[in-house]
Amino acid sequence: MKTSAGHMSESLYRIFTQIARREFFVETLETRNLDRLDFHDVSVGAMRDALLAAYNLGRRDAEHPEMRDEHFTAETKARALGLAVHADGQVVCPECGVAHNSEHMVCTADGRVVCDPCSLD
Ligand SMILES: [Zn+2]
Repeated sequence: MKTSAGHMSESLYRIFTQIARREFFVETLETRNLDRLDFHDVSVGAMRDALLAAYNLGRRDAEHPEMRDEHFTAETKARALGLAVHADGQVVCPECGVAHNSEHMVCTADGRVVCDPCSLD
């Protein structure tokens, strides 16, 4: 299948797909040449949230270029975002307040660093 990612980086395309899944309940951003798969009814609220998520992502990348680099760990990203990081490297999730190993912290599409369970909310 020809990918529609085009000139978009793989990581950006992955994040756009995450936003689309969350806000529009679509499986993929690939064109599948079937109207029922390629066209969707979308609420203005979901559009607003998706546009805001993309805007926040771009703004975050401009403020914290290191966030785009997948070689940086969640711990490094958490420090860049000003989150509490314990001496043993545990990162305090800003959503639930629980300290987690950095491998259990994820960057969300809208630029937050939260724990795995909180990322699914
Ligand atoms: Zn959490």
